[in-house]
Amino acid sequence: MLPHTLERNPWRDNLDFNCASPFIGRLVTFLDQSPTPWHAVDQVSSRLEHAGFVRLDERAAWTLEAGATYFVVRSDGALIAWRQPTEVVGWTIFGAHTDSPNLRVRPEPVMKKHGYFQLGLEVYGGVLLSTWFDRDLSLAGRVAIANEGAVLTELVDFKRPVGLIPNLAIHLDREANGSRKINPHEELPMILSRAETDAELDFKDLLARELDRSADDISAFELCAYPVEAAQVVGLNQEFLTSARLDNLLSCFIATEALLNNEDAEGVMVVLNDHEEIGSVSTGGADGPFLESVLRRATIDADFERVRVNSLMVSIDNAHGVHPNYASKHDEGHRPLLNEGPVVKVNANHRYATTAITQSVIEQAAERADVPLQYFSSRADLGCGSTIGPITAGRLGIDTIDLGCPQLAMHSARETCGTKDPELMLQLLTQLTQRDLI
Ligand code: ZN
Repeated sequence: MLPHTLERNPWRDNLDFNCASPFIGRLVTFLDQSPTPWHAVDQVSSRLEHAGFVRLDERAAWTLEAGATYFVVRSDGALIAWRQPTEVVGWTIFGAHTDSPNLRVRPEPVMKKHGYFQLGLEVYGGVLLSTWFDRDLSLAGRVAIANEGAVLTELVDFKRPVGLIPNLAIHLDREANGSRKINPHEELPMILSRAETDAELDFKDLLARELDRSADDISAFELCAYPVEAAQVVGLNQEFLTSARLDNLLSCFIATEALLNNEDAEGVMVVLNDHEEIGSVSTGGADGPFLESVLRRATIDADFERVRVNSLMVSIDNAHGVHPNYASKHDEGHRPLLNEGPVVKVNANHRYATTAITQSVIEQAAERADVPLQYFSSRADLGCGSTIGPITAGRLGIDTIDLGCPQLAMHSARETCGTKDPELMLQLLTQLTQRDLI
């Protein structure tokens, strides 16, 4: 069942994703409706409200009742939701991040060059730049509206291709298949339209039209370019799912489902942080005070230090599956495959927060849930990514494990994961919501 707040995506009305599973159908709808972190949080908020969760205001005093469900949104891009326990003993926290590497619109973006109007873009996070060329691109984000001294934010989504970044023809760059380097400043401005000699383009006018407002209402904006191509089930046996932003909306979706599906599980909390791709230092990032602040308030009268050591953080972020054409990039003993189960991420230098203790907790839960596990440990001569796990463990002193579904082409504009792993991850998280079993 799709919540009533999620519209079908007009680009794939003829496709039936229930052929893979209703769960995959909900997932692809979420991916398509969440072109930015702010849209992702909006989508999750709608689902939570639909399920009876009460939205709390951080500026107000909270009166929390045992058995009730709550959520808080910070700066539109981060969200924490939980079931309030009868007695706060310890929390089981599922964490993921809402942001993905992408291209973001500059404050004064319009350029008029060589007969074209173009949009100046900044690179957000570790973008695989070559994958953004020759794609039909749209724009979405949030807009600040000045309101008599206060500021409101509104989401905007153009929902149609409004521009593109064409490649240079190979005849004009004979090195294109060899040693091509991409200069993001020179090569990424996005073409919006042809420009007549005396024509002007006011970007705030464009935004105002999309929002059905006057340009004077708009004071500032944060906008992302995004590929309009919808998520798709791919493969001879429908074993793959391709989409933008699988890292890490896939994990946001699974964590939310785990919270919504397990109505009897007390003390379960979901934290969806923003700004992971750029280091997590922000008001809604894992290296900010958001989680600690909510944990302290939701812990009410219990001894926070005792609650802290009785808590478990499960940091969920996609893992590198082995690519058959580049298998040597993985350590021989650690080559996760798509559709073979969640990946436990381990790193001696604590780029992942997994410890022998938390690994053992997960292995016991996986055995009970009958979920296979795989392991990732990077080659000694290659670095590995990191995620919110080590940051949260370091800030809060909560035992943490780093897990993720295996995927290919991480940080591409079009990423690939398996269609079975997300449900296996959900089974594992569901097991973890049964606190007496961990
Ligand atoms: Zn990630």
